[in-house]
Amino acid sequence: MENRDGKIWMDGQMVEWRDAKIHVLTHTLHYGCGAFEGVRAYKMPDGGTAIFRLEEHTERLFNSAKILRMKIPFTPQEVMDAQLAVVRENKLESGYIRPLTWIGSEKLGVSPKGNTIHLMVAAWTWGAYLGEEGMKRGIRVKTSSFTRHHVNITMIHAKAVSNYTNSILANMEATDEGYDEALLLDPQGFASEGAGENLFIVRKGVVYTPDSSAGALNGITRNTVFSICKDLGIEIREKPITRDEIYISDEAFFSGTAAEVTPIRELDRIEIGSGSRGPITEKIQAAFFDIVNGRNPEYASWLTRV
Ligand code: PMP
Repeated sequence: MENRDGKIWMDGQMVEWRDAKIHVLTHTLHYGCGAFEGVRAYKMPDGGTAIFRLEEHTERLFNSAKILRMKIPFTPQEVMDAQLAVVRENKLESGYIRPLTWIGSEKLGVSPKGNTIHLMVAAWTWGAYLGEEGMKRGIRVKTSSFTRHHVNITMIHAKAVSNYTNSILANMEATDEGYDEALLLDPQGFASEGAGENLFIVRKGVVYTPDSSAGALNGITRNTVFSICKDLGIEIREKPITRDEIYISDEAFFSGTAAEVTPIRELDRIEIGSGSRGPITEKIQAAFFDIVNGRNPEYASWLTRV
């Protein structure tokens, strides 16, 4: 990804994509303490571009940094402006935005005290994360042999770099076995989330998702799904979800900035419902794309024009 034209915002400057480099003794590279965001920009019906829920993503980035005791040397407004500027500079009609904050290379040793904190924002075009086909037909998921984080081992409300080793292990195990994505269970054995997505199931017309004690990230798309369900008059509840409950649910889907709303058609080779995208999932998915693509005026305040 590194050898290409374009601009990346790095510590307050727009730099050439190829020159956006850091030293090999960067603290975060060695010990994994850093935080990031995944944000999307969409093309609007009038041809312009807008970033979806920019404020919420930026707020979560600052909260992640706070949890990790990192003081970002920019204001939230500066970080929002940086994201808008990166989309503009790279002339993206739509795409994925990646802000990342890390600890510098002044010294190593587990304690990062005395090191500088840095921030970068990059953006590029990125289509359906789990594939166009998966968006329509649903994806195949495997329950991971890896457990999702206990709430007091890594901090689950931080979108921390180090949390993703667990996601990578789970995703690689699942995809090596021919599945599209992994589902992780919490230390008690209840469903937590996908490697990079929140989980929902539908049973008898009601949508369920694990509550925050299950160690899942507090997803911004998950929150959007709550609003959509309210609008559509669909009941939605948080509750502990067991693995077998997913097998016998009528529908299931993942949500996430990258994954958007992706139906799940199978878990552990067991078909969920009809084994394709379910009707409630389809309604929620359609409403989601109307909102992010600027076709629902009720949600205009969630779209920040570039
Ligand atoms: N869980 C994990 C582990 C994730 O990486 C993501 C993606 N950020 C999500 C859930 C979904 O969060 P959001 O909807 O805010 O992108």
